Amino acid sequence: MALINEHFLKLQKNYLFADIAKKVNAFKVSHPKANVISLGIGDVTQPLCPAVIEAMHKAVDDMATKKNFHGYGPEQGYIWLREAIVKNDFLPRGIHLDANEIFVNDGAKSDTGNIGELIRWDNSMAVTDPIYPVYIDSNVMNGRAGVFENGRWSNVTYMPCDESNEFVPQIPDHRVDMIYLCYPNNPTGMVLPKEELRKWVNYAIKNDSVIFYDAAYEAYIQDPSIPHSIYEIRGARKVAIEFHSYSKTAGFTGIRCGYTVIPKELQVSTIDGQLHQLNPFWDRRQCTKFNGTSYISQRAAEAIYTPEGKKQVCETISYYMENARIMRETLTRLGLKVYGGENAPYLWVKTLDGTDSWRFFEQMLYNAQVVCTPGVGFGPAGEGYIRLTAFGEREDCKEAMRRIGEWLMIGK
Ligand SMILES: *Cc1c(COP(=O)(O)O)cnc(C)c1O
Repeated sequence: MALINEHFLKLQKNYLFADIAKKVNAFKVSHPKANVISLGIGDVTQPLCPAVIEAMHKAVDDMATKKNFHGYGPEQGYIWLREAIVKNDFLPRGIHLDANEIFVNDGAKSDTGNIGELIRWDNSMAVTDPIYPVYIDSNVMNGRAGVFENGRWSNVTYMPCDESNEFVPQIPDHRVDMIYLCYPNNPTGMVLPKEELRKWVNYAIKNDSVIFYDAAYEAYIQDPSIPHSIYEIRGARKVAIEFHSYSKTAGFTGIRCGYTVIPKELQVSTIDGQLHQLNPFWDRRQCTKFNGTSYISQRAAEAIYTPEGKKQVCETISYYMENARIMRETLTRLGLKVYGGENAPYLWVKTLDGTDSWRFFEQMLYNAQVVCTPGVGFGPAGEGYIRLTAFGEREDCKEAMRRIGEWLMIGK
């Protein structure tokens, strides 16, 4: 009999969004007339911008002619998209990348989940807590995370981010090989100032570690002093791989396109000290396991970099950030402690009077008919918080704030 990869048996069932759906359904059954507003799931709601739609129509027409039909494309992505990325996302920040350091993908989840294949299975890893679950679960699958005891994986270093450290992860007091960072952060919506990010780059240089930097929410940064890319830090190209996604930037959650940066300077070692660049090995990996992102999706992504595309994408982001501002202002006025929402589409809200995350979730559902995400679902340090997203419709967002206001005022 074939034997299963037993690491898969260790995976903790991720009940978070299923549990939320179950509780919301139970509420709807007992309150059939209630109009429930969801500020829970991190998916966008606004349609693709006109420049993207136009480019996609044109790409479809290309596929209808012999002359412009596209079959398999380069596994690394079309050169016109990789060059547009280098020119628009990096050059204006003083970062000089080669198109061969960019790998176009079908979204950041695939690459953040697969990148661990490049590193020996027994290397150590560190993550922030709370965290985007992909970073841990993908390492459980390849056996790197160890065993699950008391809510934590034995081989994972957790860096709690909470009020006590203003949501800035502390550098571990021991060396780790791999570090996952996501800024602006999902779920907390908090950012890392340049001097904090520099500490991580210096730590990685000193310890020969690799940083996996998830910049999926980079486009939401409003404060000009906050870095958009880890390569804004000197030396980072020796130690960091960076993941980008058009999902949140331009509403591509249903289109599927993003990219990963693996600088040629980045090297890791064999156990006997031979150095190897990771760039050619990721290229080899992609050519073996991935056949490229669709031509239509890549044309859609390219359109984001046109002057109209840039302007339109900016407008949608401003729409979401205005939601975030309204939410922040209302909740703060109501006496809640609110983090995030200034440089990210997420608000991380402290529950009242130390109520636990799930209880507060239920109170909000039953008293205001608003769905949030319990913070503890993202890790132990998320207990006592809930996450709200700014990805909703403006009217829903305002109505949700009005109801939360009513609920909390009555309670006083
Ligand atoms: C949404 C999100 C992504 C992007 O995922 P895609 O696969 O590109 O849709 C990556 N990282 C984080 C933390 C996210 O929240």
